[in-house]
Amino acid sequence: MYQLPPLPASPAPRRAYSPSRTGGNTSHRPSARPHSPHRSSATHNGGGHSRGSYSSRPSHHGGSHRSASGSRGGHFGGGAGRGRGRQRSSFDVALYINKNPVTVETETAYVPTHTFNDFGLAPEIVRAVHSLGIEVPSAIQDQTIMPILEGKDVIGLAQTGTGKTAAFLLPIIHHTLRDRNRVTLILTPTRELAIQIEQELRKLTPHMKLFSTVCVGGANIRPQIAGLKRKNNFIIGTPGRVQDLMERGFIDTTRVTTAVLDEADRMLDMGFIHDMKTILKDVPENAQTLFFSATMSKSIEGLVHEFLNDPLTVSVRKKDITAAISQDVVRYDHAHKFDLLVTLLGKAEFTRVIVFGAMKHSVEKLGIELSKTGIPAESIHGNKSHGQRQRALTRFKSGEVKVLVATDVAARGIHVDNVSHVINYDLPGTYEDYVHRIGRTGRGDKRGSALTFVPNE
Ligand code: AMP
Repeated sequence: MYQLPPLPASPAPRRAYSPSRTGGNTSHRPSARPHSPHRSSATHNGGGHSRGSYSSRPSHHGGSHRSASGSRGGHFGGGAGRGRGRQRSSFDVALYINKNPVTVETETAYVPTHTFNDFGLAPEIVRAVHSLGIEVPSAIQDQTIMPILEGKDVIGLAQTGTGKTAAFLLPIIHHTLRDRNRVTLILTPTRELAIQIEQELRKLTPHMKLFSTVCVGGANIRPQIAGLKRKNNFIIGTPGRVQDLMERGFIDTTRVTTAVLDEADRMLDMGFIHDMKTILKDVPENAQTLFFSATMSKSIEGLVHEFLNDPLTVSVRKKDITAAISQDVVRYDHAHKFDLLVTLLGKAEFTRVIVFGAMKHSVEKLGIELSKTGIPAESIHGNKSHGQRQRALTRFKSGEVKVLVATDVAARGIHVDNVSHVINYDLPGTYEDYVHRIGRTGRGDKRGSALTFVPNE
């Protein structure tokens, strides 16, 4: 059972660095266009929560609750169309929160052994890093930038939020500025992650005239082909689309000098194993290969064995999760699940919250229901177009709405800073999904809280 110390009285302090929402380097040619949902192999829902098992028990906690509806929306303790004018519940949340004494692991701050000046990176790269407000290398950066610069294959066991993207981008950018014929292929499990990597690349390479094309599924292939016909230093994409473009003759993997597999574990989970192998097959032996993954599994080991050459492994995974995120369960009666969520979200310290739901339609409904109660919320899930998801994300990132409701798949690869809380409204399907979900908070040097809704017996 997860345990949470008393909720913090005020939001955590702002981080020095908060990335801008859109990139602006005209040297890049983003080509991903919104179109249809992601390839079907990429859309599984991680949640295993069953619907329909509501209790119609009346409340005994006081407050103005509604009883659960029998409609599909009743999963959220409410019901479609019944949220208008709802009174905020006056549940005592403390009744639901497990307050067993807990020793929170004290976070031992990572003390980097380098500054960004020490790596021998090109001065314009160091300037770009500093101008973004990134002052000291994170643990993964501190330990991987040098070996990557030296050309070693590296396995980085690091989840999102550790600074892993800059950890691989910075040394690759350095090499690319020295030799502009280098081609780096970056594979990611989702189009969102691919786009965010390109955005980070742009921010790290202002005026450097480096070129990139994003090749992701669920988006119009023509602009991607047009982008590939021009010079590219970086090709960033999802395995299915990259393989498709290889077959059509627009990506030549024999020219790849660096291959990066980001969130390799998610790519395997999503059934991309064959695509990944096909793509890596013709990458030259002497190319550098970098693997980033939150978890290590037998299949990852197999891939590593097959494609990496005497790799160095750097793990920053465990410490980051346990130290930065406090975790607890929230017990609920089915009849009051939604009201409990509303009460939590109404608390001042819930400043930026991602709520995870199990199903696409229930996530959609939950977003609508929350907005009706006066808590503006956006939702992202596989039934939304790419454009709709990007708009929802932009509103969430800018603080226009403080709540984002998401499915596991839609949230994968999303990078939003300063998420104060992750709420697992529906249980995740696997421990790995749990780890990925809660990793959306407590990013960088921030602390975060993860709350998991668990039904009363
Ligand atoms: P990532 O793990 O790549 O998802 O990065 C998480 C966030 O941390 C991104 O917004 C990065 O721009 C930011 N970031 C990267 N490196 C650092 C650093 N050394 N210090 C503070 N923030 C960083």
